[in-house]
Amino acid sequence: MSAERSDRFFQFLDVMDALVARDPHEAMLLDEGEAALRVLIAYDDWLPAECAVPRTDGYQQYLLYADPQQRYSVTSFVWGPGQGTPIHNHTVWGLVGVLRGEERCAEYPSPGDAPMQCVHQHALVRGAVDRVSPRIGDWHAVSNALADAPSISIHVYGADIGRVTRSVWDPATQQRRPFVSGYSNAAPWIATR
Ligand code: FE
Repeated sequence: MSAERSDRFFQFLDVMDALVARDPHEAMLLDEGEAALRVLIAYDDWLPAECAVPRTDGYQQYLLYADPQQRYSVTSFVWGPGQGTPIHNHTVWGLVGVLRGEERCAEYPSPGDAPMQCVHQHALVRGAVDRVSPRIGDWHAVSNALADAPSISIHVYGADIGRVTRSVWDPATQQRRPFVSGYSNAAPWIATR
């Protein structure tokens, strides 16, 4: 990892630190967080190779950094060809920015509000940023739009997301069930600053 490459990520963390310290309304936080994430994903030279490794047994979620006060975390999601998530929620605000490839996002209503059917589907091309939160829409399923190559997105959440108890939707039983995602790596890329 060259100093310049890690500088991009540290500059992003500086912006996020200042943003969560101000604790603005969620709409402003998402606006300013998205702007910072767009700058970060405009360059594809900083993500360490070990946090970009696809696996054949499912998508990977590598922890890049977790705020010591758990106000936010940053992860890389790596999707192999054909891989995708179940329908799930987050319970906190989140930003998804595509670094490599292309993703497909299927949006769902909150369980109980309406039948659990996809209400909107959109593509997320390289450089695009998507938002989630319980306030603006928190249920979706995300998949790799590419059949022949991995895709990678950088996610920012308003918690240490791998340790948050949230839900997946089971279409077979039409029930939600709790899940804690954890992380694919044993230790974050950046452990301390
Ligand atoms: Fe998600």
